Amino acid sequence: MRQKFEHFLDEANPASRCLLAVLASTPFYIAYWFINLAGLLDPAVRMGLRQPVVWTLQGALVISTGLSIGFVAWLWPRRRDPRPMPRLSLAVTVNIGVIYTLIALFSGTFTTGANMTLLGVLAIGLLLFDLRTMWLSFLVCTGLLVGYDLFVIAGHVPYAPAITRLAFQGPEPQWWWAVWRNVVFYAGLTVIATMLLVMFGRLDAQHRKLNKLSYTDVLTGLPNRRYFMDRLHAEVARQGRTAQPLSLMLIDADHFKRVNDSHGHAVGDEVLTVLARLLGESVRTPTDLAARVGGEEFAVLLPDTTVDEAEAVSWRIHSRLAAHAFQAAGHTFHLTVSIGVAQCRGQSAEVVLKQADRNLYRAKQEGRNRSIYSVDSAPDASEVGA
Ligand code: GH3
Ligand code: MG
Ligand code: MG
Repeated sequence: MRQKFEHFLDEANPASRCLLAVLASTPFYIAYWFINLAGLLDPAVRMGLRQPVVWTLQGALVISTGLSIGFVAWLWPRRRDPRPMPRLSLAVTVNIGVIYTLIALFSGTFTTGANMTLLGVLAIGLLLFDLRTMWLSFLVCTGLLVGYDLFVIAGHVPYAPAITRLAFQGPEPQWWWAVWRNVVFYAGLTVIATMLLVMFGRLDAQHRKLNKLSYTDVLTGLPNRRYFMDRLHAEVARQGRTAQPLSLMLIDADHFKRVNDSHGHAVGDEVLTVLARLLGESVRTPTDLAARVGGEEFAVLLPDTTVDEAEAVSWRIHSRLAAHAFQAAGHTFHLTVSIGVAQCRGQSAEVVLKQADRNLYRAKQEGRNRSIYSVDSAPDASEVGA
């Protein structure tokens, strides 16, 4: 249910948002209308009401319900129309906002639960509609509220014009009054609390999604350079504290330009995706980290791993790649990579990176399809050809 609602909030077109708002609010107008009617018919309650004012509110509720029916009739056949409907959205939100504002005004903005309902309506509106629409209808409704209140302060109109002092007679408020004070108040409060939870839940989920996106490479789905650098710094700092070995691998596809030139960029993209998958499969997750750090450049971070152990990983990468035959338009071809490996022993991340990069450069120079290793920042400590 919640997921369906979330999906609706993400995907719904303006027409179905308007429809939902109208269909969700109209039953309340009808309920208010009947509550008021019952109050007007009850002699005890009637004494506490200014009847012409309540009948005016009843009239406004009828007009608003009529408008809602009109909206539904117009929107229903267009419910799948993907186009934006800014004017209709504004009409729908103003219609809902104004009627709830009138209800609050007539029964006393600061007296009944109608003020909570107003906030609840605003919260629902913010979930369903864009900010511009909500700002405009908010300004209209607030203008109405504040404008009326200024007249109250100036003594031109009464506060809570729908009720008289008699409404408060007796030890308990009249039932009509109790409905406004209790039921409407708690209904409004429930709506606000639920909507706030939904809103903050969505904010939280979107924040997590954005965070993940900012750390993920779109093409391959591997972590990107930013994530890799963060983890590298964190692991180097940890290595400094625990003196555990840490190895770093820089991997660059050999003659990748030729892949693009012979088979096209799309095939090149596909090859990179396969290479990323093979890399991911060649390391221990979640301790080791394979990432795409550039176009056809990848990196693997191997915590608690000596350069000798890293050698086994690079052999695995070379041999998995050698066993993989790429296909493009009936052609079969193979891809090789060059790898520079460096083991960190207390140096900074930058020094280790530079070392791995120098080793990668040497692997390229010495004929590609090979790995060059070193320990510490001393180059040429050992090297192994694939
Ligand atoms: P070397 O063995 O010296 O590394 O040769 P190379 O051709 O791999 O290296 P070079 O740096 O000359 O070219 C890298 C190529 O990788 C060029 C670039 O178009 C391609 N490339 C980089 N990112 C992508 C990508 O996301 N998709 C595709 N299809 N190609 C990419
Ligand atoms: Mg390169
Ligand atoms: Mg390359």
